[in-house]
Amino acid sequence: MSAFLQSTEELIDAAAVVARMPQGVLARLKRPDHVWEFEIPVRMDDGTEKKFFGWRVQHNNTLGPYKGGIRFHPDANLDEVKALASLMTWKTSLAGLPYGGGKGGVAVDPRALSPRELEELSRGYARAVAPHIGPHIDIPAPDVGTNAAIIDWMVDEYAKIIGHPEPAAFTGKSIEKSGSQGREVATGFGGYVILREYLKNEFQTKSGMDTTPYSVAVQGFGNVGAHIARILFEKGFKVVAISDSKGALYDKDGIDIQKVLDIKERTGLIDRGICYSMGPSQEPCKVFTNKELLELGADILIPAALEDQITEENAANIQAKVILEMANGPIARSADDMLERRGIEVIPDILANSGGVVGSYFEWVQSLEQKYWSEEEVLAKIDAKLTEAFAAVNEEKKKYGASWRMACYVRAFTRVANALQAK
Ligand code: GLU
Repeated sequence: MSAFLQSTEELIDAAAVVARMPQGVLARLKRPDHVWEFEIPVRMDDGTEKKFFGWRVQHNNTLGPYKGGIRFHPDANLDEVKALASLMTWKTSLAGLPYGGGKGGVAVDPRALSPRELEELSRGYARAVAPHIGPHIDIPAPDVGTNAAIIDWMVDEYAKIIGHPEPAAFTGKSIEKSGSQGREVATGFGGYVILREYLKNEFQTKSGMDTTPYSVAVQGFGNVGAHIARILFEKGFKVVAISDSKGALYDKDGIDIQKVLDIKERTGLIDRGICYSMGPSQEPCKVFTNKELLELGADILIPAALEDQITEENAANIQAKVILEMANGPIARSADDMLERRGIEVIPDILANSGGVVGSYFEWVQSLEQKYWSEEEVLAKIDAKLTEAFAAVNEEKKKYGASWRMACYVRAFTRVANALQAK
């Protein structure tokens, strides 16, 4: 079993002890309901045929249809998809959504495929998963390495299979293909809402805590990392470090995120030769590795890339006061305990990045009812849902004297376990 899957199971065990859940319920909630495995053939541009492995794991549907993204990544594997599917069950429960948890994955580097190959793979995945999904069965969405264009191909393929359009069977669609305003920024926006509520809460309860400007380091500049970096920059936080797969950039006076985004839009990359400093410096940012970014002296660290970034090896070097987990599973279980002992607070993934699936829920409602809400309306709804989720977790935290992660798990787990027992 992979370390990530083991961590996920250990967390459920620990939450069950705190919540005093019977063993039978616990066993049921550790096992996924269904595991689907596919081999997807793709005719490559050079004329050869290549087979890609893909999965859909349906973890639990006690509270509603399975819900969760599809990841395209070279390291994707069944254990990872199982762990991520389980995280989705807890995430949707915690957010109070009428959903269970699922996840999909394909072991592929999407950047190494041509647009035609990528389309064929996406359609192939949709054909493989089609018998198992539907607007009231399992509703896939984007995740790492997938986007609205990929989801649109899947929606189109699914419509061909079932003989009519069914946009509510997927979320994360493009606006043109009846997606929702605000869905793309939803995960980053949700992270900001949770951080805002956390800081408000800390400021009210702990004396002597300054409000601004907090310095922030963001690892990852994909859909999640880029949006949260931009939103925090716009809200007046000092974003001192960002990174993409090529490495990290740092400036002690803060990085002009809007400038980074404008240049990325024009050239397709984060140009390392340009000065992005918010201070007097005329120099390009200092360059670090992705690993070094985690250890920089920013107040708030935001891992927004992949799992297992903070482990026993580097947990002792983390200098941040707060970690907002925007990636799924970026902190290994053993590292989590070390951080807790050092007094570093961790706002866990199932709360911090739940804005994405909350945004998906509002997209699903609009698709089912053929409604269209403005971005302002969607973001206001996400804000209200997450503010409520944060307050509920905070109550749980006080009640059990637990870490944020444990408070989240106990709440999420209790909701699912009670519904399961009631059934
Ligand atoms: N992939 C996102 C997540 O991990 C969103 C899932 C969804 O919208 O269903 O939460």
